[in-house]
Amino acid sequence: MKIPLFRPAACAEPTAARLAQSLAGVLRSGTYILGPQVQSLETRLSALLQGRETVAAGSGSEALLLAFKSLGIGNAGGGDALDEVLVPAYTFVACAEAVLAAGARPVFVDSAPDDFIPMPEDFRKARTPRTRAILAVGLFGDASNLPELADWCRDEGLLLVEDVAQCLGARAGDGATTGHAAGTWGDAAAMSFYPTKTLGAAGDAGALAFKDPRHADKARLLRNHGYRDGVHRCLGHNSRMDELQACLLHAALDDFPANLARRRAIAARYLAAWSDLPMRLPKDSAGHAWNYFVVRLPGPLERENFAARLAASGIATRVYYEQPLHLHEALRPWHGDRGALPHSERLAGCSLALPLYPMLDDEEIGYIIDAVRQAARAPGAPHPTTCQPPS
Ligand SMILES: *Cc1c(COP(=O)(O)O)cnc(C)c1O
Repeated sequence: MKIPLFRPAACAEPTAARLAQSLAGVLRSGTYILGPQVQSLETRLSALLQGRETVAAGSGSEALLLAFKSLGIGNAGGGDALDEVLVPAYTFVACAEAVLAAGARPVFVDSAPDDFIPMPEDFRKARTPRTRAILAVGLFGDASNLPELADWCRDEGLLLVEDVAQCLGARAGDGATTGHAAGTWGDAAAMSFYPTKTLGAAGDAGALAFKDPRHADKARLLRNHGYRDGVHRCLGHNSRMDELQACLLHAALDDFPANLARRRAIAARYLAAWSDLPMRLPKDSAGHAWNYFVVRLPGPLERENFAARLAASGIATRVYYEQPLHLHEALRPWHGDRGALPHSERLAGCSLALPLYPMLDDEEIGYIIDAVRQAARAPGAPHPTTCQPPS
């Protein structure tokens, strides 16, 4: 059996044929950018995010940049060149790029001792008088620390920007189902519809959501060269969404609740089937959107062996992420002499993403479960006690 790390819903029949028909309708309409498909998509996204005003954008990376600029963080958005944004060290590079492109400075925050995602106390340690905002990333689909972070930001007078690229559909707060949606806790939220995300397009697309409609208005200007009613009111960007992607996202939204439920059901099966294995499983937080299922091996060597055994069984895996941001060549100067961020550095050496997506059928899930059990227990496999977190 061959199991890729991800398989889009759009590439299988009858979905592919159905989508092709809808796309043909868009082609015949002759309107290809920021048209009625995008407009109605914004309305639906707003409904998903408890009425927050949403603005479609060209990608998740651009949405992050427009979020900072719309909130006036960094000197490109009317703020100060010394504005600091606290950014998790263990995340995708776009998080730091957006802060720098907005004309602000990223300050990298270590992961919590026993989780990928920093806790409020980790952010607190990195805070300085220059801190304007924190970027909360719902890494791998886990948005569970948003309530605490939102409280802390309110108390400290900091802006909260949510990167919900991986956790759209997640909920946080009292009770997983009654809690508030990820993307509604901060001052702004950036979404990505990159194909592998919980709500995926067939290409690049993203969106923003805001607490204050005035910030949404600013983002609407910025995404289209600052242009409105014949006048360029500010310098902006080309970060517009295509009608074709919006059309595909409408179909993806129709299936979104079922696909989220499917992700959660697969995660529950993995968690139950692998609880006795010598690897650490992801934290099973209530409301998790399970974008990626990332396990931790004791170290780089064990990870390499484990991945090789799965590859031999036809199962693709991937390292998210090879390095924490502060160690990347392009970002190291911004970290300067702030020293090691030991937890994120350790995690980068031992984490491995396994296939989890709605298109996996039951037979494939059973196959993955068995193959992972065998790979984790093969001779020379790690001993359970070596997987414990540092005390
Ligand atoms: C995917 C992703 C982004 C960027 O989104 P794009 O649509 O690929 O530009 C930003 N942050 C995180 C955490 C992501 O996973």
